[in-house]
Amino acid sequence: MSRPPVAIIGAGVIGLTTAVRLLQAGREVTIYALARTPGTTSDRAGAVFTPTKSRDNARVEFWTRRSYAVLSELASMGDRAPVRGVRLGLSREFFLTPTPEQPWWRAFAPSYRRLTGLHPDHADGYEVVVPRMDITRYIPSLERWAESLGATIVEQRVEDMREIAALGHTSIVNCAGLGARELARDPVVFPMRGQIVLAPNDIGLDVALHEEVDSETEATYLFPFEDHIVLGGTYEERKADAVTNGAALDGIVERCRALLRKLDIPGADRLARERLRSWAGLRPARVVDGNPEAVRLEVEQIRGARVVHNYGHGRAGITLAWGCAEEAASLVE
Ligand SMILES: Cc1cc2nc3c(=O)[nH]c(=O)nc-3n(C[C@H](O)[C@H](O)[C@H](O)COP(=O)(O)OP(=O)(O)OC[C@H]3O[C@@H](n4cnc5c(N)ncnc54)[C@H](O)[C@@H]3O)c2cc1C
Repeated sequence: MSRPPVAIIGAGVIGLTTAVRLLQAGREVTIYALARTPGTTSDRAGAVFTPTKSRDNARVEFWTRRSYAVLSELASMGDRAPVRGVRLGLSREFFLTPTPEQPWWRAFAPSYRRLTGLHPDHADGYEVVVPRMDITRYIPSLERWAESLGATIVEQRVEDMREIAALGHTSIVNCAGLGARELARDPVVFPMRGQIVLAPNDIGLDVALHEEVDSETEATYLFPFEDHIVLGGTYEERKADAVTNGAALDGIVERCRALLRKLDIPGADRLARERLRSWAGLRPARVVDGNPEAVRLEVEQIRGARVVHNYGHGRAGITLAWGCAEEAASLVE
């Protein structure tokens, strides 16, 4: 007798990546999702490979290492890749205090080098080659890939996982992101708003730049792509409306211009004179002991169904998706 399809709740990067891995393992998959691309949080990410700040535990290390390997392989496939918009590129990170142990994942990232000759504001810095995802192409093509492998996507809100179990699904993967707060009755899940400006890449920037900021709620980063640059950002805890505000967007542009000036990169004054788009997204933070990426990836039995929770990726869902999807797929089995 054939097994019923695995039900996945959520069609963001976590749900779609988990679907791809399950389909490749020969399982049928039905995805139930309230929103799909381009309407998910995943469509609003930066998105550069940005691992969690600390290693935390062996599982986080595994997820990060696997994701790095998979995204690098996809980047190396170029136009033959089943997903679009992935490439490897140089990224430079600047810190306000010396941080010799950063980044903890350097062992598996080639071209790692500590930077010297820094601006006086920067006490430390490194460069490393990382995957960079043009999110406007990555998530739509990931959805197409899942569908081409056989996934069925049903657009609906799931009120309770027992209603999915009642449809005959004996395996459910909960990839509801922020929606897991209600769905899994998990009060440590909450929104962390991020705002972004998209500007034309008319300054020819090719290196991703990230500067530590003396603020809990702000960040400074520039992620360059072929025709645009993503400028960020903000980390606004418990802001539950996905709306931008002018002062925050102006602040982002000003900090990014200042960073270019510090680094003597030409074009600071021209940067974002024209703004292509701006947006805000709600990261699904899950905070345990101060860690906002306390991912929940574990099994629970609900009404005869095996539920694998895979949510709470906070600032790092695009980064961790492949590693987490592989573990989730093996937990389904
Ligand atoms: C501005 C910004 C910049 C970012 N930059 C980066 C970056 O550079 N690198 C990085 O790794 N990450 C980045 N992130 C974080 C990343 O976007 C998230 O971690 C990731 O998108 C989470 O994916 P997800 O699939 O869990 O959630 P989502 O994309 O939110 O998907 C959740 C899915 O579940 C569905 N759902 C929820 N509740 C229900 C329900 N009750 N019934 C049915 N369906 C439901 C939703 O409709 C949706 O389909 C950034 C985020 C933002 C906002």
